[in-house]
Amino acid sequence: MDAFVSVRGVTRRFGSTVAVDGADLDVERGEIVALLGPSGCGKTTLLRLIGGLDVPNAGQIVLDGRTLNGPGVFVRPEQRRVVMVFQDFALFPHMDVAKNVAFGLRRGADARSRVAELLDLVGLPGLGHRYPHELSGGQQQRVALARALAADPELILLDEPFSNLDPTIRVRVREEVRELIRAAGITAIFVTHDQDEALSLADQVAVMIAGRVLRAGAPRDVYREPGSIEVAAFMGEPNLLPAQVAAGRAQSELGTVAVDGAFEGPARLMVRAEQIVAASAPGSVTASVDAVQYFGHDFLVSLRLPSGLVVKARWQGIDPPLPGDQLRIAVEGTVLAFPAT
Ligand code: ATP
Repeated sequence: MDAFVSVRGVTRRFGSTVAVDGADLDVERGEIVALLGPSGCGKTTLLRLIGGLDVPNAGQIVLDGRTLNGPGVFVRPEQRRVVMVFQDFALFPHMDVAKNVAFGLRRGADARSRVAELLDLVGLPGLGHRYPHELSGGQQQRVALARALAADPELILLDEPFSNLDPTIRVRVREEVRELIRAAGITAIFVTHDQDEALSLADQVAVMIAGRVLRAGAPRDVYREPGSIEVAAFMGEPNLLPAQVAAGRAQSELGTVAVDGAFEGPARLMVRAEQIVAASAPGSVTASVDAVQYFGHDFLVSLRLPSGLVVKARWQGIDPPLPGDQLRIAVEGTVLAFPAT
């Protein structure tokens, strides 16, 4: 069966810049999808193309069986049943909350009761008379969401929805927004360059690199099996080490490690920071501590190997090692190997 949203070979050029370069994406009904990728990889452009705010040079966008963009076809944004929530929420400062929300309503709707219903849904009952400047960032975010939901969309597009929020409330607000989208039973695509946000909120993560969706899937699958060195390098900032792979085992400066997959030959190994652990067993290697970053729940330790190569390890526990300490380390679990370039 066809996906609810299907993006096929979508390309958008701006002069000599190819912002979106033959992107493909499938979204199921009711799914929350994170479009994740480094700055400038084309996320916002793709979102705007799906919303109809921009026109692709090539490719097809289909929503629920209806072609929105295709050869000779362009459905106008207001006829798409797709709404976009912008990074800065774009509320009208001179309108109170109720008027802001009512602005999103389709013509003919019973404004007063629908606005009250939407404000209830987003957890702001009775705040219809407030003005945007009288609300917190998180509350403004919810008003923007209520206004978007007022249009009764089939698909909601959110461009970096949490980036304008104070870090202290961001995690809470994003959980709330996810629950709201679920409660409204709506399909959502949100853009982010924050992989924690993507992995923790989305049902599907689509990683965009240089205008293409290089890997899409459930968060765990994408994290564990990035499929290419580009996606691997972007997800979780893994350590990449030169290695030689034969018979399912890799030899590298971190010792001998089991490899996932059938690849053989000169390789670059992807070793996640959380896979490097303290070890005294035979086969462990000695490294010296270069630097330690404290994160409260754990530490990120930069370890210098005898060759001078520095790898990063996530360290649990209360007492971190100190710069200059010598540690015995080993790799836990299996690693991925990519052809050496
Ligand atoms: P960020 O995370 O930094 O917002 P992004 O992944 O959303 O980045 P886009 O904003 O889609 O990336 O931009 C992709 C590329 O297209 C960039 O090189 C950008 O400079 C270029 N671009 C985007 N919009 C335009 C435009 N209207 N005119 C010219 N170039 C553009």
